[in-house]
Amino acid sequence: MKNTMLEYAKKLDDQDALGMYRDEFYIQRNIIYMDGNSLGLLSKRAEKSVLTLLDSWKQYGIDGWTQGEHPWFYFPETLSEMCAPLVGALKDEIIITGSTTANLHQLVASFYRPEGVRTKIVADELNFPSDLYAISSQLALHGFDAEENMKLVKSRDGFTLQEEDIIKAMTDDVALIVLPSVLYRSGQVLDIEMLTKAAHERNIIIGFDLCHSIGSVPHELDKWDVDFAFWCNYKHVNGGPGATGGLYVNRKHFGGKPGLAGWFGSDKEKQFDLSTHMIPAADASAYQIGTPNILSSAPLLGSLKMFEEVGIDAIREKSLKLTDYMMTLIELVLGEYNFVIANPRESVKRGGHIFLVHEEAARICKALKVHQVIPDFRSPNGIRLAPVALYNSFEDVWKTVQILKMIMEEELYKKYENKRDVVA
Ligand SMILES: *Cc1c(COP(=O)(O)O)cnc(C)c1O
Repeated sequence: MKNTMLEYAKKLDDQDALGMYRDEFYIQRNIIYMDGNSLGLLSKRAEKSVLTLLDSWKQYGIDGWTQGEHPWFYFPETLSEMCAPLVGALKDEIIITGSTTANLHQLVASFYRPEGVRTKIVADELNFPSDLYAISSQLALHGFDAEENMKLVKSRDGFTLQEEDIIKAMTDDVALIVLPSVLYRSGQVLDIEMLTKAAHERNIIIGFDLCHSIGSVPHELDKWDVDFAFWCNYKHVNGGPGATGGLYVNRKHFGGKPGLAGWFGSDKEKQFDLSTHMIPAADASAYQIGTPNILSSAPLLGSLKMFEEVGIDAIREKSLKLTDYMMTLIELVLGEYNFVIANPRESVKRGGHIFLVHEEAARICKALKVHQVIPDFRSPNGIRLAPVALYNSFEDVWKTVQILKMIMEEELYKKYENKRDVVA
């Protein structure tokens, strides 16, 4: 059977051991959702856990902090234990708290210790801007000029980074390195283990932004000896818009003082002594600041259960099959339409999405939406398509490519302006 046929996609779906999870999600009728790397879909379990936590507020009022099925006071720790296998850490090395950017602020405030000529922070020019804004402002708080002290590793091709270029930037004047695990545009997976080893050989602290890998790509943060990491839980982890994020601090750094302190970073036994002197928790909980966002964390209870059940390795395996199939179809079906597949081809270097570059990308995305495929436009000319292991099918991939073909063949994209919307 030819792999460009619908029957072939259906056969792959029949063989898919994770196929049954699709029904656990709310997928709008006739919509092909390819944007789970920006905002994962709502699952029925996540919905149920929100209602459970809401009900504990209804039932217990203030006593919900200590009573009910999931006492709020310990809720971040409950979720951290469930999340730990996704990053390859011990449960007390991670904490569900804050947001990506706020957690980055916390971790830079905690681990950036400029000394003598070691004042620089290495990042990369392809990273998500919010990370770079946070690093710049942290440098400014130390009285440093960001232009001079934020060292951005350049990309040779505009899409990917070379590990050797990053290692070359690890000079004696560098105090800290912050890099993504998976690049948000091209979906390139960086070699975290190699980069961490190189940084440590040069006495540099290194941390990673896991926004685009958590829930999609396995991590071994402990084994790789990463110093810290942070992430959001609304992309592949399906925690809902603005879901509480997470952070990891390697246990070798336990006992340090959080750069940004607040009472929820306290040793829990002592927190309600309400002393004027803070006694930080002995683990990653110390990096919490204020009262946990219980209702924005609640969906994670249901969602992470699914990850526990399926396991991240099975998710990665299916994810790679989906993106592999998508690349094959793009080449076979869209060959004449000048799309460039700008994500890395090899499995070890490919994250959970496909990145297509086309000069008409903005309006191709608008046409896709009108034809019920939800893509993600990334300025200036990128189309991200994320077939997600837990809820997308091989048939979704097949249909997406067919619809793209129709849009190109009939030049349907020309009906729209080649300009991004406010949120894109
Ligand atoms: C999604 C994403 C963010 C978003 O930050 P928030 O604080 O959650 O808004 C930051 N950095 C990267 C790399 C991302 O992919």
